[in-house]
Amino acid sequence: MAILKTEAIVLRNYKWSETSNIVTLYSQDFGKIKAVAKGARRANTRFVNSLNPVTQSQILFYSRNSGGLHILKEASSINYFPNLKREIEKFAYASAVCELTEYLTADSQPSPSAYYTLHQTLNKMEDSPLEDLKKLFWHFELRMFALVGYCPQLSKCASCGSSSESPSISFSLLWGGLLCEECKRKDTAAIQLHPGTIKFLRMLQKVEIEKVRNVKVSPFLEREVEALLDAFWRYHTGEYRKLKSLHVLRQIK
Ligand SMILES: [Zn+2]
Repeated sequence: MAILKTEAIVLRNYKWSETSNIVTLYSQDFGKIKAVAKGARRANTRFVNSLNPVTQSQILFYSRNSGGLHILKEASSINYFPNLKREIEKFAYASAVCELTEYLTADSQPSPSAYYTLHQTLNKMEDSPLEDLKKLFWHFELRMFALVGYCPQLSKCASCGSSSESPSISFSLLWGGLLCEECKRKDTAAIQLHPGTIKFLRMLQKVEIEKVRNVKVSPFLEREVEALLDAFWRYHTGEYRKLKSLHVLRQIK
């Protein structure tokens, strides 16, 4: 077994046995990995704290190539993201970011861009006011969809590729984007969007994270964007999953 070292973000941590946990991490060098943390249920040590979800840590692990679980040897936190842990709304959005990463990425497929996007989003959420969280989450969703090959097609017809001047407002989950006037009959379940929603999403696809807070959104567009991205996500995960973290937040609000 090789021993490997990398930086990683803890996505999930759950009980495996009386003394051990299984930790899912998204690492800078090896993509998503799952590892056993022996002794993680015993003491409140530095090792245990650095394996809490929504924590960036330096880890050392024994690698198993056969698809089995890796074994964590050491872990120490680099950034504990205290603000994300302190406020329930921040923690819910940060957890949703981790949840989405876990579902959308494959095991042991390194993607420095995905790691960078994940890390950058958590950093930004840590220092942002609550009203920016939703937009930062949407921005993250669009980036991750693009990185895993599900980028919603918003600039031309997702079926025939034409980019006519007349703005299309039919969004097809089946085709993964907008359908032109000619093609919209190919999906009778296409969602009709307000032109402002499409414009907003296009802008969000392009804008750098630093500028996200300047992007304005009305309550109407907010509802439409949220419903569309929710539907898009559920369609692509295949199981019509709800993002647990945000579901909990909506229940208590
Ligand atoms: Zn078309």
